[in-house]
Amino acid sequence: MEQAKLPSPIANADSKPYWEAARERRLAIRKCNACGQLHFMPRHLCPHCWSDQLEWIDASGAGSVHSFTIIRRASDPAFAPLVPYAVALIDLEEGPRMMANVVGADALEVKIGDRVRVTFEERSGGAMVPQFTRVTE
Ligand SMILES: [Zn+2]
Repeated sequence: MEQAKLPSPIANADSKPYWEAARERRLAIRKCNACGQLHFMPRHLCPHCWSDQLEWIDASGAGSVHSFTIIRRASDPAFAPLVPYAVALIDLEEGPRMMANVVGADALEVKIGDRVRVTFEERSGGAMVPQFTRVTE
């Protein structure tokens, strides 16, 4: 399987719970209990108020495409077999914006404003990477 050859994510202390949730097919984001804001990427301190009173919540997995690009020349040889592929900035329903690939048979038809839903792409070692598919119904 092609995807199993792709590099696995490297977790750090801030992102470890995020990657553990992904293995369970959950999209986890950080919520600040001091100011109430949500954020992504995972951080030790709230980027809005610098509080360390953070918790993890499960995002719904629904979002929309803020912007995207089509990758035609891979920056890493491991991704060369996938070109062309779509990388997008996704605005999650809860607010935070994250970067991910748009995958699926119609991924290259992606447009700004498309509704998308999270899916999980398996990597080597059983790691799962949150990606998105277009919602077209
Ligand atoms: Zn805060």
